[in-house]
Amino acid sequence: MSEEMKLRKEQVLATARNGYDRVEEAELSAVEAYCAGYKKYLDGGKTERLCLKESVALAEAAGFRPLDRTKPVHRGDRVYFANRGKELLLAVIGEKPLDQGCHIAAAHIDSPRLDLKPVPLYEDSELAYCKTHYYGGIRKYQWVTVPLELRGVVMRRDGTAVEVTLGEGDEPKLVITDLLPHLGAEQGKKPLNEAVPGENLNILIGSRPVGEEGESDRVKLHVMELLHKKYGITEWDFASAELEAVPAYRATDIGIDASLIGAYGQDDRVCAYAALRALLDLGTPEVTAVCVLADKEEIGSMGVTGMQSAAFDTFMEELCQAQGVSLRACYENAFCLSADVTAAYDPLYSEAYDKRNVARVNYGVGLCKYTGARGKSGASDASAETVSFVRRTLDEHNILWQIGEMGKVDLGGGGTVAQYMANRNITTLDAGVPVLSMHAPFEVVGKLDCYMTYRACRAIYEAK
Ligand code: MN
Ligand code: MN
Repeated sequence: MSEEMKLRKEQVLATARNGYDRVEEAELSAVEAYCAGYKKYLDGGKTERLCLKESVALAEAAGFRPLDRTKPVHRGDRVYFANRGKELLLAVIGEKPLDQGCHIAAAHIDSPRLDLKPVPLYEDSELAYCKTHYYGGIRKYQWVTVPLELRGVVMRRDGTAVEVTLGEGDEPKLVITDLLPHLGAEQGKKPLNEAVPGENLNILIGSRPVGEEGESDRVKLHVMELLHKKYGITEWDFASAELEAVPAYRATDIGIDASLIGAYGQDDRVCAYAALRALLDLGTPEVTAVCVLADKEEIGSMGVTGMQSAAFDTFMEELCQAQGVSLRACYENAFCLSADVTAAYDPLYSEAYDKRNVARVNYGVGLCKYTGARGKSGASDASAETVSFVRRTLDEHNILWQIGEMGKVDLGGGGTVAQYMANRNITTLDAGVPVLSMHAPFEVVGKLDCYMTYRACRAIYEAK
């Protein structure tokens, strides 16, 4: 290419470049250190409840305290509110009063998984199983023959809680079986989404009978007796339990160059960690910085711990009231980065993407002007002004960003919490880490993108 053409192109054409060609060598060690913390966070928080505990521990260590409704809040205060053990709201009070707005990063800490049904345990052919109802959008065939562990809480009849941890560390794991290829010819002809029916996602939990030969349900009895011995629970207690089967492996580096991370639950804990870590690392910002770690995003943000609940409004109202200012004015002047993952371009399935409008691994935090499906339906669709504000803020700090869509126009789409923030009259833009195999029991992200998303959250919090 001639020098002249090069110059002319540089002046007016947009050329996306791989992040590794753009970052300084020195920044790569910061990327590595950040990702080490992130992997630990993933291993400690495989359910929304556990992730909240991890997050609270990190926040407490960084000087955050539970919000005390009887006391005023001052600039520089670091407060949090844990909503029913599943949703976490945190704030660092800024220099300016809250009616001049706040800067929010909102991620979610629930991930697709298999929840036990209210009456889960049964025996068939002298094998014991737990029935499940999947949570969120999963590709069911991906969840068979994967080692699973059981996490969650059982509330006994007397109101006492028992925390269940089955399959951690060296403990025995659980699994859902699949048909052998020798007998799978008929199953193999079915469409992928029908090959493993939801009612077949039954977890194998035991095989050794107790008692006398000829009795019924001897394996089931053994399993229940073991659970009773370990947790003091009976079969009725499943009725008031939230038990989640999640993959029983830890986060790990992927690729011989260790440039990627493979783990369960990265949608959306990769952004949750970025939003949280960035808040914990803040000094006193110009405007109040708020981090939302919401629950229930994967099933539509419903319920008391989802983004549609008034818990967020209540938290914000407490802060506004403590300063004697209007919550509605605060929302009107606020900005929210809806920090959620986006689809990364996968060359193995190129037909699903518009190659010119897609996020790529290692190209930085992925902005999404709109998500939504087929004709932007259900999208919050950020304004040009909003994208401009974010783009400018990221450029000022040399933060690598890209912009794309979730797959092809008539194919893709998806929801995030963006629309529920926008409904509150809060200016919102979706942005997050591009993910390969999103919603699979083992998702893959690029380390560089994780770190850039952290830096993006921090730049938004600190923006004037
Ligand atoms: Mn998500
Ligand atoms: Mn999701």
